[in-house]
Amino acid sequence: MNLIDGNLISKSIFSELKDKVSKLMLDNKKITLVDILVGNDDASKIYIANKKKKFDEVGINFVECDLPDDISESDLIKRIDQLNSDDSVNAIFIELPLPKHINEKNIIDKIKPEKDVDGFGANNLGALLQGKKCFIPCTAHGIWELMKRTDIEIAGKHCVVVGRSNIVGKPVALLMLREDATVTICHSKTKNIKDICKTADILIVATGKAKSIDDTYVKEGAVVIDVGIHREVVDGVKKVCGDVDFDKVADHTSYITPVPGGVGPMTVNMLIKHCIETVSNE
Ligand code: NAP
Repeated sequence: MNLIDGNLISKSIFSELKDKVSKLMLDNKKITLVDILVGNDDASKIYIANKKKKFDEVGINFVECDLPDDISESDLIKRIDQLNSDDSVNAIFIELPLPKHINEKNIIDKIKPEKDVDGFGANNLGALLQGKKCFIPCTAHGIWELMKRTDIEIAGKHCVVVGRSNIVGKPVALLMLREDATVTICHSKTKNIKDICKTADILIVATGKAKSIDDTYVKEGAVVIDVGIHREVVDGVKKVCGDVDFDKVADHTSYITPVPGGVGPMTVNMLIKHCIETVSNE
């Protein structure tokens, strides 16, 4: 078993990104991302603070835009329209989930595609489907980057993706297809899911359910990518685990991502990369 060290790979990507931002600054190119939080979700606030720290370090302006949780959908759209037409704003990010009275899909699609650095809008997702240049949802992009930088062979392999969300499962499946894998997508209604997973050369797990995949799902020597992040308390000690039961699965794999320290650290790096791409095509 080889561990795919997301922390190490992320470190080297981060330093590449930092160099790029420094060069852009010499050309007087500044980048600004506006991060919209509707409401007061504590978990989102921690996530935003961590993101801001990385953005400050890399040299990209990170502007927090806090809006009240009772904001109407039309007022939120007005705010997004203002940011869309503000030339000093390169990128817009909306923290999800939004309060229940707001239709998430409506809102996401209101962000100009060229500022939709999270790649969740219909325009970017459609472009991904068509194989055009676009912003790829950051976690899916991070998985692809991890695999590329680990020299994992994808072409011709059977890749099973467990999970079909618009932000992880579907885009990562499209990326694997783009790399010439044969792709199967499983979800909560899939029959014989164990049998299907057992045929995977590459198993990408994004179920959102802690330790939902154990060794009985994994072919000997498979590559296993665990997208999940869950906090649990074991014997009074706080721990983080993934959607894969690492302890049972790891010894059966050729490569596996740990949680924490696998896919997780890649996501913010991809967001920074996309922000840079709003001003530079290099
Ligand atoms: P999601 O929207 O809840 O989607 C979960 C998907 O898994 C759904 O398609 C669901 O099927 C399927 N599923 C659930 N239980 C299943 C089971 N027992 N067997 C087979 N399929 C099952 O989750 P998500 O947003 O894609 O996120 C997935 C995981 O990635 C979560 O653990 C999340 O915390 C993590 N995540 C990590 C990062 C990061 O930066 N590392 C970023 C985003 C998400 P149905 O469609 O049939 O309901």
